[in-house]
Amino acid sequence: MVKFGRLYNLIMIIDFTNLRIAVDFDGTIVEHEYPEIGKEKLFAFQTLKELEKMGARLILWTFRSGKELNDAIDYCRKNGVEFYAVNKNYPEEIFDDTISRKIDADIYIDDKNLGGFPGWSEVWQILVPFELHQKEVEKRMAAIKSKKLKRLFWRKERPDEE
Ligand SMILES: [Mg+2]
Repeated sequence: MVKFGRLYNLIMIIDFTNLRIAVDFDGTIVEHEYPEIGKEKLFAFQTLKELEKMGARLILWTFRSGKELNDAIDYCRKNGVEFYAVNKNYPEEIFDDTISRKIDADIYIDDKNLGGFPGWSEVWQILVPFELHQKEVEKRMAAIKSKKLKRLFWRKERPDEE
């Protein structure tokens, strides 16, 4: 039986089309080794690429600038992630005193979040719970199907018992 909570989660699907996700670099995409580039955090690029495929706009939101910033952008590009914007709301935005420094994203992924960084697989599970529940539903459906088949064969083998 599907519990109400699970059913509720099934319809909690985030529409990722044009959803702006601000992502920090040091300590989030990679281990904190600034000004060097640390080792990739487990599943960082895999998750980011999936979110991008689903239509999200990834914004690199980092304190890096100049050469260190370019190093980070290049590293992400080499790993298949091209950001929609870097430290900006949109690519053409020119920063001056008339606009706030804070970007206006829908979701922020940062190792300095309250509670710390949960890791990329947790990020994925929070953002895409549907996939997990879908898998769970498929598993249960398969189990029910195989039970039905077993029952069917059992009956065929013993037609006199029906
Ligand atoms: Mg950080």
